[in-house]
Amino acid sequence: MMGAPHNTQTTLQVAGMDCPDEIEELRRAFAGQAGILDLSFNLMRSTITVSFDPSATDSEQIISIVLATGTKATLLSDRAASPNSQDSGEGKALSLTVMAGFCTAVGLALGWLPVVAFHNTPWPSAIAYSIAIAAAWWHIAPKAWGAARRFRPDMNVLMTIAVVGAIGLGEWFEASTVAFLFMLSNWLESWSVGRARRAIQSLMELAPPIARVQHGDGTEIEVDTGEVEVGNRVVVKPGEKFPLDGRMVEGRTSANQAPITGESIPVNKTVGDEVFAGTINQEGAVVVEVTKPVGDTVLAGVIRLVEEAQARSSPSERFVDRFALYYTPAVIVVAILVFVLPPLVAGGDSGTWLYRSLVLLVIACPCALVISTPVTIVSGLTAAARNGVLIKGGEYLESVGKADVIAFDKTGTLTRGRPIVERVIPINNTTVSRLLELASAVEQRSEHWIAEAIVAHARKEGIVSPPCDNYIAFAGKGAKAQVDGKTYLIGNHRFLEEENTCTEEVHRAMLEHEDCHHTVVALSSDDSPLGVFLLADSPRKEARDSVEELRACGVSTILMLTGDNEGTARAVAQECGVTEYRAEFLPADKVQAIEDYKARGQRVVMVGDGINDAPALAAAHIGIAMGDGGTDASLETADIGLMKDDLRKLPWLIRHSRRTRAIIAQNIALSLAVKVLFAALAVIGLANLWMAIAADTGASLVVTFNGLRLLRSNDRDMSVSC
Ligand code: ADP
Ligand code: MG
Repeated sequence: MMGAPHNTQTTLQVAGMDCPDEIEELRRAFAGQAGILDLSFNLMRSTITVSFDPSATDSEQIISIVLATGTKATLLSDRAASPNSQDSGEGKALSLTVMAGFCTAVGLALGWLPVVAFHNTPWPSAIAYSIAIAAAWWHIAPKAWGAARRFRPDMNVLMTIAVVGAIGLGEWFEASTVAFLFMLSNWLESWSVGRARRAIQSLMELAPPIARVQHGDGTEIEVDTGEVEVGNRVVVKPGEKFPLDGRMVEGRTSANQAPITGESIPVNKTVGDEVFAGTINQEGAVVVEVTKPVGDTVLAGVIRLVEEAQARSSPSERFVDRFALYYTPAVIVVAILVFVLPPLVAGGDSGTWLYRSLVLLVIACPCALVISTPVTIVSGLTAAARNGVLIKGGEYLESVGKADVIAFDKTGTLTRGRPIVERVIPINNTTVSRLLELASAVEQRSEHWIAEAIVAHARKEGIVSPPCDNYIAFAGKGAKAQVDGKTYLIGNHRFLEEENTCTEEVHRAMLEHEDCHHTVVALSSDDSPLGVFLLADSPRKEARDSVEELRACGVSTILMLTGDNEGTARAVAQECGVTEYRAEFLPADKVQAIEDYKARGQRVVMVGDGINDAPALAAAHIGIAMGDGGTDASLETADIGLMKDDLRKLPWLIRHSRRTRAIIAQNIALSLAVKVLFAALAVIGLANLWMAIAADTGASLVVTFNGLRLLRSNDRDMSVSC
């Protein structure tokens, strides 16, 4: 058996688990069984993950619990096992469906034969129909029996009653058609769910399974990527995909990173640059030193997130599931009343009313309704991932389109956030080198982008900075530390004012240089300023268009929250077309601003780069992180990540979300309309069995394809207006 003896979790592939009905069924089967700790179902992948106490039960016992419900289950030892086992189940169902369809057609054709009738049907026809029904039954019976034993009528039970009832009434053709169409719609459902499932698998197949590892003596051998170790060197030829994440150590090329970022313009790569598994090496033969094992690559993280996202149910899915829970029993009750009451009250013909109640039973299947929403959501999540937008759950996909307020962080979000020191202005007779020495001594301890820029600049100037002690970071303001026993501080204007080290001269210098292309910080000792640093950081070129598009989409408030100085903030806001901004905001102030909007009942989306922004991202209804190629830890804290720092993905996302919601609404409306229409027709006797089930199958098909449409959403839609 799979796994170590101490393993307390096992995942099973369950054949044909496409309907919440079946999940409910399995949940019941597991209830009260010894040693079962937790169950989690993945409808899209048809898997159950069972956590269990290994001293009380084992995988085999767990499988037998599933088998007792009449469903096939196999142990899922690894990912690769899932498509195969699924396919063979689908294949068998398909051949039985084809057989049922063929025999129904034969039965219909033989119906013209002038031979002795059996129950109003010529006997050769009756035989063909019987074979059709038997073929369907072969598939349905085990499940129906499992459900019946638990006194929990599911669709299989209802269909069995409908078919037996129709035979009892002498309606052979109808019985056969119902059996066939029920099989067909089951098969279509599992096919369509499989289609969405395969879309996720296509993401997984992005990375090649084999890497060419180069050894010290120059020989190359091909090994499974799972066996490549961190630090190994792999050779990648032009046109091949990078098998693992790594750093270039030889060669020069460009990489198409579309598989991860959704952006197909190639990015130049030279020695020292990072490359990602699944991205395509364009023209150079290169050597890459592997930096991450196969399970930790950016791509693996993306896949894991998409899978986790689709396993979580969205509000629409929960609504539909809850609805289905009441719907089926309610229709069954109505069906019983229709069968019993009219003949009792009005003395009508009981055969007629039995038939009508059978039609109602057929309509009681909520599958079309129930399957349409997850298919839509999974398609939407997958399409977004392909476009470089990582959404961590259906609920975010559904709700981001309803945003009233979009709050942007400035640095690294509206601006590029990769600044360089442009000018160093010494004050009070400090020399430039002394100024740089002290500043980089303090900043070498910080991870802030300003600190990195100052340290890099000092190093470039050949300055070796002394160590510092007692370093303290002041989030959103600056930092303080001791160098050679003397305290220094570096930060924005507000920080200097608060520490009472700002002078008239520094005040003027800072105000003078604050503009949309610069951020200004100053260094001071504990009593007097020593100099001012001008850091260049421009707005992203697509910022203005994206903000305009968001406004055109009807987002009522777009604002910028920043810890930077007033002057720079005003200039950047103006340049990006953002009308509202708040400057010199600490991380806590950003959270407060977001809470204020929320208190007014508005839906707030926060877009940030993750540095200092994690609290604000968490406070907003939806936090969107600039992912910087997916390498940033901010993806962990946000609900949605932009794999490529491209602000135009935001309006795309808003539209994508609205499209998703529109499709869900259409699907729910259509499936309910079909149900209501046929329930009414059934009661007044205008609908017959095969029509009811054909309409149901048709509705399933329509809603499924409607959902799958989202898979085709791509960058081209970016130009479409709202
Ligand atoms: P934003 O809100 O623009 O993303 P932060 O909240 O990260 O910016 O920081 C706000 C401001 O605080 C910066 O613009 C800078 O002036 C100052 N600051 C923060 N940390 C540092 C640091 N380590 N060195 C110098 N200045 C800093
Ligand atoms: Mg920031």
